[in-house]
Amino acid sequence: MFAKISGASKGLTIVFTGNGKGKTTAALGMALRAWGQGMRVLVLQFIKGGWKCGELEAAEKLGPNFVLLQMGEGFICGANDEDWEVHCTAAQHALENAKKAIREGSFDMVVLDEINYAMYYGLVDVESVLDIIQSKPPGLHLVLTGRYADDEVVRLADLVTEMREVKHPLAAGIKAQKGIEF
Ligand code: ATP
Ligand code: MG
Repeated sequence: MFAKISGASKGLTIVFTGNGKGKTTAALGMALRAWGQGMRVLVLQFIKGGWKCGELEAAEKLGPNFVLLQMGEGFICGANDEDWEVHCTAAQHALENAKKAIREGSFDMVVLDEINYAMYYGLVDVESVLDIIQSKPPGLHLVLTGRYADDEVVRLADLVTEMREVKHPLAAGIKAQKGIEF
């Protein structure tokens, strides 16, 4: 028998960052856990878009309490990317969606996937994200993922985990695998 555990009342700001694999995976695991507790979850993917990864298929099966939107335009190659404007517009659009969803209070957990990366590359400005963190409803769990988390985001967060690469199959020439990477 498990001891009865009281429900969460304090919404946390959670950051998964670092160079090792597992940031989005950890956020999705947490989102699944929250969904299982009857919570309403929104996952906004800032960079991904255009291809159907497993989590998108899963979200469709999980129903209305697990909403996953891919709002990005795929991989960016830094500021020299010829589609820079397209990426910027997509990231801004994702940010507006995030703000609206948080303001309306229709979710208990909001995951902003790859937002750290989007901030690092200047696709979204740091101030807007800090504002989201500081003005979020007290009960909302806010999860931010991606490499190069901003120092101020880390300072404001309640939980920060840095994934550290020990080994990655890509180094051995093993390409991305279904169910592991997408
Ligand atoms: P995942 O989505 O698998 O949890 P992630 O969110 O930690 O990964 P991202 O920085 O978002 O990592 O990169 C996404 C893609 O890059 C994934 O396909 C992942 O396998 C790959 N990747 C992540 N870390 C590394 C690494 N250290 N070396 C090479 N490829 C990596
Ligand atoms: Mg990721």
